[in-house]
Amino acid sequence: MYKARKRFGQNFLIDDTIIEHIIAAIAPKKDDNLLEIGPGTGAITLPLLEKVSQLHAIEIDTNLVALLKSFKKNNLDLHQGDILKFDLNTLPRPLRIVGNLPYNISSPILFHLLEYRMRIQDMTFMLQKEVVERITAKNGSKIYGRLSVIMRAFFSVELLFIVPPESFNPAPKVKSAIIHLKPLIKTPVSNKPLFTKLVAAAFSQRRKTLKNCLKSFLTQQQTEIDLSQRAEMLTLADFITLTQDLEARQPQNLL
Ligand code: SAM
Repeated sequence: MYKARKRFGQNFLIDDTIIEHIIAAIAPKKDDNLLEIGPGTGAITLPLLEKVSQLHAIEIDTNLVALLKSFKKNNLDLHQGDILKFDLNTLPRPLRIVGNLPYNISSPILFHLLEYRMRIQDMTFMLQKEVVERITAKNGSKIYGRLSVIMRAFFSVELLFIVPPESFNPAPKVKSAIIHLKPLIKTPVSNKPLFTKLVAAAFSQRRKTLKNCLKSFLTQQQTEIDLSQRAEMLTLADFITLTQDLEARQPQNLL
């Protein structure tokens, strides 16, 4: 068995039932443009290759790339490299992206993919359960934050099922979950740089009020949103309103 490397967040799936569930959740069609992030030893890759005419996969670990190449699968288009530096514009669209993501960099991967949302049909990922819960959290909850607001401004999200640590080798210390993300046909966000900057600032000091966190952005006179609240109380619609109020103020100086 391949010795897992911690720094690459390697936890290989070994549970055939879970693998079947994941493939069923992806429901690949022959002509789909699939991209798998982190194919590893091929737990999801091999069954996917049975179903599609071509599969792109990006893997950072050169030893695993060599292993996957040794399977000699003609329909596997393997890219060696870092997904965070990978230009998805080089792949056919619309893309369906899948993967059991390396948990140590799952949020940066999600933010990277956000930049390519126009090219994406959907994404089915295994993530740490806690990260899925953060993405799907409602306002007012302690785990609601930047990831929840930003991901849900651009994607519809659904937790599909939970996966226990025993389904992996080595077993992670945490539970995992499968999430499905689909780009919204129309995002409520009209100014993405401003919106993401504002959301990041609002959550930068969770214990402080919005008035404090957004001091350099706008004052209470410039918005109807009550700035004596903390960021975690605001809905996505509230953040959209704040962005619009801010934009109305001085659009060109803020970026
Ligand atoms: N798909 C396999 C499975 O389910 O058994 C492996 C999943 S493992 C959790 C994550 C995989 O992502 C590993 O193969 C790891 O080497 C790869 N990986 C880690 N960081 C990466 C990066 N920045 N870019 C591409 N692949 C990466």
